[in-house]
Amino acid sequence: MFENLSERLGGVFDRLTKQGALSEDDVKTALREVRVALLEADVSLPVARDFVKAVQEKATGQAVTKSVTPGQQVVKIVHDELKHVLTGDEDPGKLKIDNPPAPILMVGLQGGGKTTTTAKIAKRLKERDGKKVLMASLDVNRPAAMEQLQILGVQIGVDTLPIVKGEDPVAIAKRAKTQASLGGYDVYMLDTAGRLSIDEELMAQVEAVRDVSNPRETLLVVDGLTGQDAVHTAENFDERIGISGVVLTRMDGDGRGGAALSMRAVTGKPIRFVGLGEKMDALETFEPDRIAGRILGMGDIVSLVEKAQQTLEVEQAERMMKRFQKGQFNMNDLKMQLEQMMKMGGMEGMLAMMPGAAKMQKQMDGAGIDDKMLRQQIALIQSMTKRERANPQILQASRKKRIAAGAGMEVSELNKLLKMQRQMSDMMKKMGKMGKGGMLKQAMK
Ligand code: GDP
Repeated sequence: MFENLSERLGGVFDRLTKQGALSEDDVKTALREVRVALLEADVSLPVARDFVKAVQEKATGQAVTKSVTPGQQVVKIVHDELKHVLTGDEDPGKLKIDNPPAPILMVGLQGGGKTTTTAKIAKRLKERDGKKVLMASLDVNRPAAMEQLQILGVQIGVDTLPIVKGEDPVAIAKRAKTQASLGGYDVYMLDTAGRLSIDEELMAQVEAVRDVSNPRETLLVVDGLTGQDAVHTAENFDERIGISGVVLTRMDGDGRGGAALSMRAVTGKPIRFVGLGEKMDALETFEPDRIAGRILGMGDIVSLVEKAQQTLEVEQAERMMKRFQKGQFNMNDLKMQLEQMMKMGGMEGMLAMMPGAAKMQKQMDGAGIDDKMLRQQIALIQSMTKRERANPQILQASRKKRIAAGAGMEVSELNKLLKMQRQMSDMMKKMGKMGKGGMLKQAMK
């Protein structure tokens, strides 16, 4: 699917992972090559640029893990970033088909693989989800298209709406809906007509069909080999019709794969499936993790780094605990705690996981502890110097003023944060003493 890109990246990272130490220049050179490889794979320029920038930032801020080489770490960052550009919000293969009969509208240009994909998805719904599916061809321009769908239907054992000559697409869509309701179908799929290029007549027709059928899913089928053209087509269709996802076909070819990488970032729409051949089961859901792995082809390194990072996190946590027990809890520690809270979905996310949360959440709202506050507190810490973070007790009036101004907040807010840090530090100290048998001693008194 991504042979060329994969080979190119493989070359870049082979060199990088073999080196022991990496200078900033090594990373820069490698990333320049990554950028070229992406552009050659027909990834759009802004996407390639943002990609490289994100990797660069993460590579610079990354904690060094002893057991893996810096090059291996960069591979992992690139993998995660690939996954990130490919990822949509939802499970790509899960189509919205509750409330039967659920209409699925299939749109796209002629020759993109729309009819084939319609049948492939119907087969998948039937076999994997046990759904009763009806397919209807609305392509009145090419009678052969209607027959093509009918033949595929027979082949996969899925019903097609009987062909009535002379009917217009809107009438066919209405008839499909009636037939689907009467016949107890779970899903009915509308295979609209395509054109060689986007034109007003095509769009108006698809729009009319959309308005009478109210589709639960509108899937755009585009030829993945057409690279950035596929992305432009998706932008156009989404603007005019509104699409819920994309199916990229012909990904079995040795295409450059750029469409897959740009689609999400440029259109904001997820790729739901990829077509991998002419056969009826040559359809896969688009799993970002697996695809990223395939592009990079360095799964071993990725899992190696993952493991090393886990170890590092445990080591860091242990070191932190030791310091806490001595009552050492500075602004860096507080920042880490606050960030952890943000990561867990902020206060709301944490509360949602606890029983009796709704009530507590109300109280919290009253106290003003929310995501915004967490972010502000982090901003305050970020506007401190390294020395100030490690020794918050040195903060006098002028420093406080500077810090608050730097974060765009009042000194009173900063004072609250300092109080919080002191309280936590005291608490840690007490807990530390308890840990060393202090609690037992207290109980004996
Ligand atoms: P439509 O005009 O958009 O309905 O396109 P068709 O479904 O008729 O497909 C056009 C051609 O592309 C047919 O020969 C299909 O077999 C072929 N095709 C569709 N999807 C794929 C795919 O994922 N891989 C390959 N190799 N061929 C495909």
